[in-house]
Amino acid sequence: MNSDPSGFFISNRMGRILLQATHETIGDTPLRSVPDFVRLALPSDSLPPSDGQRAFSFETVSQLHSALENVYGQQSGRGLALLIGRACFKYGMRQLSEPLGFDHTDFRLLPHVRKLQTAAQAATNLLRAESDVLIHMEKRDGKLLCHVERCPLCHQRTSDSPACHLVVGLLQESFGWLSGGKIFNIKETLCIARGEPTCTFEIDLNPIT
Ligand SMILES: [Zn+2]
Repeated sequence: MNSDPSGFFISNRMGRILLQATHETIGDTPLRSVPDFVRLALPSDSLPPSDGQRAFSFETVSQLHSALENVYGQQSGRGLALLIGRACFKYGMRQLSEPLGFDHTDFRLLPHVRKLQTAAQAATNLLRAESDVLIHMEKRDGKLLCHVERCPLCHQRTSDSPACHLVVGLLQESFGWLSGGKIFNIKETLCIARGEPTCTFEIDLNPIT
C-alpha cells in the first residue's frame, strides 16, 4: 500500500475512509473474490489507522477506482464509484467533521452560499494538510469550480471521458448535507485522464430542488 513510484500520498485517515466506504458499498464478498481488490484494498484484514500521516498512495487510490470499471464494466463501475463517494461523506463526517469545523454553531448559522463556500475552503485546507492533492476553488457565474491539478483518482490513467465519479458522489452528498437535503447539479467538466490540465468539478450553487 505504501509503494508508489510517483511519491504522492493521501493520509491514512483518508485511505481508511475510502476503504470503509468501498467495503460498505460493494460488500466484502465480491471484494474478496476479485484478485484486483484483494491485492489493492485488502492486503490484510486491518484498515489503515485513523491518522494524518501521508502513507496511502495515489497509485492505490487510482487502481482501486479503476478496478471498479474493470470488474463491473464502465457504466456500473462508474455508478458504484458515485455511491462510494457518497458513502465517503458519511465516514468522513465521523472522522473529520471536527477539523473541518462543521460541528461549530457559527458554521451552521452561516447564510446558504457562504456556508457552501466556507465548507469548500475548509475541505481544500484539509486536503492540503493531509495529502499531496493539489486543488483550488474558484467562484464564477454562480458556480463553484473545484480545480484539481494533482488527482489521486485518475492518477496515471487515461480515459476518453471524465473518470473521477467518486468525487462527484462525494460532492453531491456534501452539498446535500450542507443545504439540508437540496440537490445540486454537479459534474466533472475536465479530467486529467482525458489529457486536460485539471480535473475540474462544476457545482451550480442554485440547487435544482
Ligand atoms: Zn479526473
